[in-house]
Amino acid sequence: MTTSHDYGAESFTAPHIALFPNAGMGHLMPYLRLATTLLGHRCRVTLITPSPTLTAAESAVTASFLLSYPEVSHHELRLIPDDDNTTSGNPYFLRFGRIARSIYLIRPLLSSVSPPLSAVVSDLLAASQAGPILADLGLPLYILWTSSAKFTALVDNLSSDPSRFNSSLSQVDFPADLGIPPLPIESVPPPFFSPDHILTHMLVTNARALHLAKGILINTFEGLEHETLKALNHSRIENGMPPLLAIGPLELCRMEPPKTTTPAQAGDFKRWLDCQPADSVVYVCFGSKDPIEVAQIQELGKGLMMSGVRFLWAVKSRELSDKADGVRELLGDSIGEDLVGRRRGMVVSGWVDQDEILGSPAVGGFVSHCGWNSVAEAAAAGVPVLAWPQNGDQGVNAHVVEESGLGIFPKNWAIGNGHRNGPVKGEEIGEKIRDFMKNEGLRARARRIGEAAEVAVGVGGSSHATLTGVLREMARRP
Ligand code: UDP
Ligand code: UDP
Repeated sequence: MTTSHDYGAESFTAPHIALFPNAGMGHLMPYLRLATTLLGHRCRVTLITPSPTLTAAESAVTASFLLSYPEVSHHELRLIPDDDNTTSGNPYFLRFGRIARSIYLIRPLLSSVSPPLSAVVSDLLAASQAGPILADLGLPLYILWTSSAKFTALVDNLSSDPSRFNSSLSQVDFPADLGIPPLPIESVPPPFFSPDHILTHMLVTNARALHLAKGILINTFEGLEHETLKALNHSRIENGMPPLLAIGPLELCRMEPPKTTTPAQAGDFKRWLDCQPADSVVYVCFGSKDPIEVAQIQELGKGLMMSGVRFLWAVKSRELSDKADGVRELLGDSIGEDLVGRRRGMVVSGWVDQDEILGSPAVGGFVSHCGWNSVAEAAAAGVPVLAWPQNGDQGVNAHVVEESGLGIFPKNWAIGNGHRNGPVKGEEIGEKIRDFMKNEGLRARARRIGEAAEVAVGVGGSSHATLTGVLREMARRP
């Protein structure tokens, strides 16, 4: 059965779209949000997830999502076994490679899906493998880019000459006609200094295959990255590259908490949060995958104590563990009752529902590592960000936070490219957080960005118009 939907002036048969995310929560979450957004536009959605997943969290979240959205069809793409030479190194990079090597298995799956597909949305790192297969099947490929538009500028720059970056430069300059301000070299992910690094190699190979895609969907919006979007799209169109399609912020998923969340803990902090005054709590979280060194965790604990500000801290010190950390064990005895005693703050170890937290009226600020999903979520919620990037694209995203007015970015805190020695001290952290939470001007600016986000996705808004344009294009297929 097909449904009809009015995507503007004319009426079209709603497209059937397959979504194929890469590994890791930071990749999965925006796909689930995109699925939710597409269902809101009455599309038919098929989700194809790599199996096995890299983390237990991904399978728990996928299962919970499918229970909440039974209209989404689900298929697993069984990955080929690891080869013996690739068992050490960053587990995310290794998994990205394994998925790329398994993509050829997607062909029979795509051609057997019923009703026939209108388009496939996948990750940049799948472009070079998936592009030719989809072209053969006559299916358009769209990329869902899981970082900022600004980071695409850096990747474009890298792929045009992979040996151009080195750590002795002071900054990265973009072509003058783009009008994009230079980026300090500390914001460049260190792997970009080695053309042979597995991540650099994968990014460059796939960025060069992007002409195989019809468009790059991004979870961003005009109110957050207007200048960058305008500049990049102008030059991409001139160079015959697919456009950047800002369709964010993507809709939140309404799903039950995943089964692995400890219910008592979840209930506890939610009750506590509900009782705090408006804008009084700073929420601290560094994403789902990058552990923070224990010494820095302990200084952050001291800083939160010294700040005098109420806080909710989702602490995490392991990369792929399925065991929550012991809070006391992590923070050390010196950090006493004040921190873990639930009077002025809560420390939660393990997974929290970040969307729900950012949506709480009590939360008035977010200390974030600036994974792009977290930035987009903060922008959508109108919550100011204190940017503390750790690695990867986070340094570039932190500049977006600062330039857009969504938050502040203390540059000397960033680990960047080994430019800081030792942890940032508790005194400095405490002072910065206190000032950040008192900054009413910043809070008002962040709130305006949240309002702009709402306008962007509303009927007639820029993201809504861009997405309906894409759907109309997809629906044109027979
Ligand atoms: N997240 C969450 N609870 C946590 C940690 C993370 O809900 O305890 C979500 C967060 O809302 C975001 C995603 O996981 O959607 C993490 O993606 P992001 O790009 O911010 O960072 P990454 O984990 O990829 O570094
Ligand atoms: N976690 C959880 N419920 C979830 C997702 C994660 O309790 O739905 C826990 C997970 O078991 C781990 C921590 O949260 O202890 C960090 O999540 P992450 O995304 O890193 O998952 P992991 O890589 O640990 O499987």
